[in-house]
Amino acid sequence: MSGMRGSVGPGTMFTGRHNRGYYLHPDRPLLFSRPPLPAVIHVQGSIFVAHATLIDGKARAAELSASITESAAELFETHGVRPGLAVVSVGDDPASKIYTRNKKRTAETCGFYSVQHALAADSSQETVLALLTELNADPAIHGILVQLPLPDHLDEQLITQSVAPEKDVDGFHFQNIGKLTAGQTEDAFVPCTPAGCMLMIEDQLGKDFSGLNAVIIGRSNIVGKPMASLLLKANATVTITHSRTSDLPGVCRNADILVAAVGRPNMVKGEWIKPGAIVIDVGINRIQVSEGGETKTKLTGDVDFDEVSKVAGAITPVPGGVGPMTIAMLMAKYSGIRKTRCKH
Ligand code: NAP
Repeated sequence: MSGMRGSVGPGTMFTGRHNRGYYLHPDRPLLFSRPPLPAVIHVQGSIFVAHATLIDGKARAAELSASITESAAELFETHGVRPGLAVVSVGDDPASKIYTRNKKRTAETCGFYSVQHALAADSSQETVLALLTELNADPAIHGILVQLPLPDHLDEQLITQSVAPEKDVDGFHFQNIGKLTAGQTEDAFVPCTPAGCMLMIEDQLGKDFSGLNAVIIGRSNIVGKPMASLLLKANATVTITHSRTSDLPGVCRNADILVAAVGRPNMVKGEWIKPGAIVIDVGINRIQVSEGGETKTKLTGDVDFDEVSKVAGAITPVPGGVGPMTIAMLMAKYSGIRKTRCKH
């Protein structure tokens, strides 16, 4: 058990060792970029065991959204410009419908001009490409999102590459991927999920990860690979693992920062974790659980939270961790880039 022990009474507050200003390298103090978050506390009789700091993505996302709303209002006041976001979806996938609706709603809450194009499932490639050509040329639209996955008859690569790179807020265009890989993130769109993960890690560690080992489980173009580029840029020593990696638990035990983006419920166990590590759980898995004789659907991550929170130094929950940050980061990047362009 790596947690810290001591006596505790009702209502006792405790902040873990991260919150005393150092992490993993006691000889190398790190500055926190924001105030520390409360630790997860498990009370066992009169003994308390303070476990991982809970990284509250929902609260962080709300904080971000508030400042984006402020920036958008300022942009409108000073330049008369309202950031315009177009969300394009094809078909009736229920999860995609929820995501597109949430993106549109968040954009409106932030004060953006937001349009949604919901195309029929049997829309032709030409129809989708014609819409993208129109949106690329529309001066009122500054960002375009194409909701994935697309129906099988559509060429996903051709469609994502047809969004103008300067409006590609998802960061899927090869031009943006190239810039990220080259470490030129200043004028690139970076995929939102890894960008949100990065912000949450920086909240814990500051901006320089020199001397720290980062391990990513998963090598997708949307999460794993861009996450690796961002961590590398922050000077972490990065390992990307995947389904063909041997001794995955052993590789993970070396991680000061562990990012799980696999899509397998509760795969990462407590014994895989280096004590004090920061664990970011990207996975969103729907599992069936029985509660009071009823079968219900529950969201769970790739990390076994109960086990891992007893070993890790900080951890994101699912739900309420990476998920809420993804959309907030989308709006943040988008409003930021637009604002920069308006200055020129
Ligand atoms: P993906 O494209 O399916 O990639 C999954 C990765 O996991 C692949 O690289 C795969 O390896 C690897 N993998 C599969 N089984 C493994 C195993 N047993 N051991 C080690 N690696 C294994 O998935 P994704 O799009 O990156 O998404 C991953 C998860 O994150 C999903 O649950 C998704 O829903 C979630 N997600 C959440 C957000 C959010 O906003 N919170 C955003 C995006 C994704 P191979 O390459 O060898 O097949």
